[in-house]
Amino acid sequence: MNLNNQKIGILGGGQLGRMLANTANDYGVELHIMDPNPEAPCSTTCQNFIVGDINDFDAVYNFGKNLKVISIEIERVNVEALKKLQGEGVKVIPSPEIIETIQDKGLQKNFFKEHGIPTAEFELMDDSSKITTLQSKLPFVQKTRRDGYDGRGVKVCRTEEDLKSPLKGASVIENLVPIKQELAVIVARNPKGEVAIYDPVEMQMDPTLNLVDFLSCPANCPEEILKEAQVIAETIAKKFDLVGIMAIEMFVTKDNQLLVNELAPRPHNSGHHSIEACYTSQYTQLLLCLLNLPLGDTKLYSPAVMLNLIGEDGHDGIAAYPGIDKPLPAGTFVHIYGKKNTRPGRKMGHLTILADSVDSALEKAKIAKSILKVTT
Ligand code: ADP
Repeated sequence: MNLNNQKIGILGGGQLGRMLANTANDYGVELHIMDPNPEAPCSTTCQNFIVGDINDFDAVYNFGKNLKVISIEIERVNVEALKKLQGEGVKVIPSPEIIETIQDKGLQKNFFKEHGIPTAEFELMDDSSKITTLQSKLPFVQKTRRDGYDGRGVKVCRTEEDLKSPLKGASVIENLVPIKQELAVIVARNPKGEVAIYDPVEMQMDPTLNLVDFLSCPANCPEEILKEAQVIAETIAKKFDLVGIMAIEMFVTKDNQLLVNELAPRPHNSGHHSIEACYTSQYTQLLLCLLNLPLGDTKLYSPAVMLNLIGEDGHDGIAAYPGIDKPLPAGTFVHIYGKKNTRPGRKMGHLTILADSVDSALEKAKIAKSILKVTT
């Protein structure tokens, strides 16, 4: 196989696109990335980076028409252009239909219901002004159907007072789940239908930002639950006829039930540790899917903790990394995404910490977090 003439394109060049470009460079594959931001994190690592609006039909179509394969690192892209490209013979991975379903949390929830995938009870609401009629359902969670990410677009409603300022637009109204733990499983499926599943990771959320604070693997969870989480992930991949990779976020309820929360059909924050901790990283795995090559072994060969480097509160402007001149605990791997500006809560990088046990990695992660900050 000639790797030089593969011409793979990716819509979106944030940190995920940047890490994918690093992998493509390792394989000597010609990767093209389009992102609206001229200073996107991939702009310095992807040789064929172009600036363009990934939500614009013409921009996506023109970007894709000379490629062999096109994929995504974010689901907010122009699906109509991807459908046209697919019709003209460009391989679109994941399929435009999968992206279309996942772009809309309402369609995702309907998909779970239709296919018997366990998920929190829900109803769809077209107009948020009607939320005041739902007093009897309190407490619940309101989620906007489209364009929510990193907790923006999720509102926990506990009291009548909370109903006075609902999120705008069509939304999903979901039962408030008594969450014991949050897990994520990454599954890959190639065009031949071969499946590879990663060990589930446990996500510790930052309660104020609704962002992943720490992620650890293996998850501290009974073996049967972990196995079941992997079975659910494989079922979802097969029901979707997935080609590509998908992250499946799940809740473990206080009575040990697994409920699927949401999907991402692309590399995901919960798979960053796979670069150092697994035989095959999520980025390599996606590249293998895009090249129609055999999938890699997903084995976790070291316990790992991943810590997002988040912009500190009160700092908005050119980013600085005080503490980077201090030694970090042994086994710490630094990834800084090269974003010029920081702002409170912005994901600016991550650390992966390997150790003999998750507890020891967590100890080191806490030390690393106290040393390395993102400020101005
Ligand atoms: P986003 O797409 O912004 O990541 P999520 O749907 O993943 O939004 O929700 C963000 C976080 O909010 C979840 O990780 C979880 O901690 C909390 N959450 C979401 N849905 C529920 C629910 N039904 N019950 C309780 N907590 C929830």
